[in-house]
Amino acid sequence: MKIAVVTGGNKGIGYGIVKGICEKLNGIVYLTARDVGRGEAAVADLKKLGLKPKFHQLDVTDEKSLIAFHDFIKKEHGGIDILVNNAAIAYKHDATEPFGEQAENTVRVNYFALVKTCKILFPLLRPHARVVNLSSSAGHLHKIPSDKLRKKLSSPTLTEEELSQLMQQFVESAKAGIHEQEGWGNSAYSVSKVGVSALSFIQQRTFDSDPREDIVVNAVHPGYVDTDMTSHKGPLTIEQGADAPVHLALLDDNVKSPRGQYIWCNRNIVDW
Ligand code: NDP
Repeated sequence: MKIAVVTGGNKGIGYGIVKGICEKLNGIVYLTARDVGRGEAAVADLKKLGLKPKFHQLDVTDEKSLIAFHDFIKKEHGGIDILVNNAAIAYKHDATEPFGEQAENTVRVNYFALVKTCKILFPLLRPHARVVNLSSSAGHLHKIPSDKLRKKLSSPTLTEEELSQLMQQFVESAKAGIHEQEGWGNSAYSVSKVGVSALSFIQQRTFDSDPREDIVVNAVHPGYVDTDMTSHKGPLTIEQGADAPVHLALLDDNVKSPRGQYIWCNRNIVDW
């Protein structure tokens, strides 16, 4: 029995991804959410459609919650076949919090919590597992103005530790008000998603020499979608936004491509 896990599944694209995987997978899909009430309500809505996701609490920023989820899955199922790292935040354009605070929180949730989620859950991945990291069009390397930073971020020998140091450097620069001077641009969301893209490529390189065969990680831009995050300005429905992530979650065993790629909402590989 295949086991799929989606983070931030209670609404938006994550909810669409749970729905799409439930429709196509012969297995068990865990809709996870940080808030039990919102998560259970989402599961109840999907059950009305005849689907059967299960719920488990999971706050990706909370190590205790991640460990509890790890222990639960290990005991109940022994492993994970599909992990969709969807949970993220974005400040609105009119947010009044100082930029340094926005940068710290955005990178903490979108990048560092994803790193932590993978650290805790990757040991459970079984051979042929599929990992899908929700990046964004904002997670394209060209969003970073500095040549020097782009070179570092796209180095084929970049390690996860070095990438995390770069993300932390951005946060420190943002707090000091010198992030634009240092070439990071003016969007904390973009930096966090560039981090998610770069991390995905590093993760694939690592899995390529993992004893568990054929584990595939891809980063995906789901399109501009009608969700709370976009204040419902995106033209795509959550089902349309879920299309490419669900496709990547269900890639055939031993698929040659895409592996460790940046994928657009039309399922095409985009040069990062
Ligand atoms: P929403 O804001 O609609 O939903 C985000 C989800 O993430 C919610 O379920 C939210 O839970 C959850 N979440 C936030 N923080 C945590 C946490 N600490 N632990 C667990 N869950 C958490 O966003 P979208 O559906 O629009 O976005 C989904 C993904 O797609 C994100 O990664 C986003 O960056 C990406 N994306 C979206 C685009 C779009 O056009 N919408 C475009 C490009 C990328 P809660 O309800 O509790 O807040």
